[in-house]
Amino acid sequence: MRPRHPDTSAPNSDAPLVIVGNGMAGHRLVEALLKQAAPPRHIVVIGEERSPAYNRILLSPLLAGEMEANALTLRNADWYAEQGVTLMLGERVEHIHRERQQLTTSAGHTLGYGQLVLATGSRPAMPPLPGLDLEGVYAFRDLDDAAALTKAAAKGGNAVVIGGGLLGLEAAEGLRKRGMGVTLIQRDDRLMNRQLDDTAAGMLEVELTGRGLGVITNGHIAELADDRQGRVAGVRLEDGTWLPATCVVVAIGIAPNAELGRQAGLGVERAIVVDDHLATSDPAIFALGECCQFDSNLYGLVEPIWRQVEVLAAHLCSAVEDEPVAGYVESPTATKLKISGVSLYAFGPTDADEHHDVLVYHDPDQGEYRRLLLRDGRLEGAVLYGDTSMGPWYFAQALAGRDLTLCRSALLLGAADADALLDSSQSPDSTNRPVKEAA
Ligand SMILES: Cc1cc2nc3c(=O)[nH]c(=O)nc-3n(C[C@H](O)[C@H](O)[C@H](O)COP(=O)(O)OP(=O)(O)OC[C@H]3O[C@@H](n4cnc5c(N)ncnc54)[C@H](O)[C@@H]3O)c2cc1C
Repeated sequence: MRPRHPDTSAPNSDAPLVIVGNGMAGHRLVEALLKQAAPPRHIVVIGEERSPAYNRILLSPLLAGEMEANALTLRNADWYAEQGVTLMLGERVEHIHRERQQLTTSAGHTLGYGQLVLATGSRPAMPPLPGLDLEGVYAFRDLDDAAALTKAAAKGGNAVVIGGGLLGLEAAEGLRKRGMGVTLIQRDDRLMNRQLDDTAAGMLEVELTGRGLGVITNGHIAELADDRQGRVAGVRLEDGTWLPATCVVVAIGIAPNAELGRQAGLGVERAIVVDDHLATSDPAIFALGECCQFDSNLYGLVEPIWRQVEVLAAHLCSAVEDEPVAGYVESPTATKLKISGVSLYAFGPTDADEHHDVLVYHDPDQGEYRRLLLRDGRLEGAVLYGDTSMGPWYFAQALAGRDLTLCRSALLLGAADADALLDSSQSPDSTNRPVKEAA
């Protein structure tokens, strides 16, 4: 279906709400706006990618050959048309003219806006390395990347993945499952160093190397070398190690797409700065998702973005000024890895300080590990490997800031045991009962 392009127009009260970016945040915002009692009369969504919004998270199972591309679609273009939402795809917003409340796109369209939401996400961060522009060097961010990697994997041969975080691990395992010989290079001394402690990272490494994945930690890259015909031939490490590869994936992190905000003269630090109602320094312009910065926080997982969406949708549709919408509040996020056969769950700090009470359960034969960090009886961090069923319960306790002192002895065993202890400790006849007796 051809998109209906709004007319070139000067700002007026009928100007649409324009959302830049049809990614996960931009799309979720449309869904949330349509559920409001008084949704905006006219919504326009402009997205640079040619496909309508899809579940980016599922690019990993797609690359691993566990899903079909069409299963990732969130809503197709017909759905947008049925909702009366104008969807303009394959078009990049290039300029915002704030004084006229207009924007221009790469296709030469000029649109007026009443309110504008920037949901431009982020792009893969690139290390300062020679050879990044060679053919055969990929990122892993969108459907085109997944398709290009799938095509490269079909030719077989060796791949090198740069980055031992969530994304790098999922890319490496995807290529390995498609038959490539894969080596992953991690600059830190352990995999997923932001989420896992040494023990859990070691267990993960043993599992993955057992499947045939090469893992190099403390790996420092000197260059990506070419085959003298413009294609990548391999990766050379600073210690001289040579890793031949026809495919190199860079997955070291993300950089917020904040240029549009910067060009428009909005407040931008590491990303587009927003307040707790997601407003930028211009009250008619909002930003959310990976392109925004709230306090000093940047975003790379969807959970906090979903909460931003709810706040912004309610704020944009709130007609009554004296009924303010509750603002966005930062809160911790838990991490899971999407590699089949590997179960891990983590949140909070990985390194204990002298005030942490550290509880550990480790059964190497069963491949199970749980480590909890408590401060003054309250859970601050957890790393679970193997059986992760307790993860959401631990996370809920941490979010609630619940004092777990009375169930400390049962904490590593299961939610039922711990809850029973906490409940019994709250019954009138057991207030002061020692934990051991209650157990
Ligand atoms: C492979 C992979 C696996 C992931 N797995 C997980 C996971 O397991 N759990 C989790 O929580 N998160 C995961 N993430 C992260 C999650 O996908 C992102 O946090 C989320 O997509 C961010 O949403 P966003 O809308 O801010 O950005 P995006 O989804 O990237 O959307 C931004 C959109 O804006 C478009 N755009 C940018 N600039 C312009 C412009 N000037 N004009 C028009 N359009 C523009 C982009 O093309 C893009 O389509 C994963 C990400 C990847 C890549």
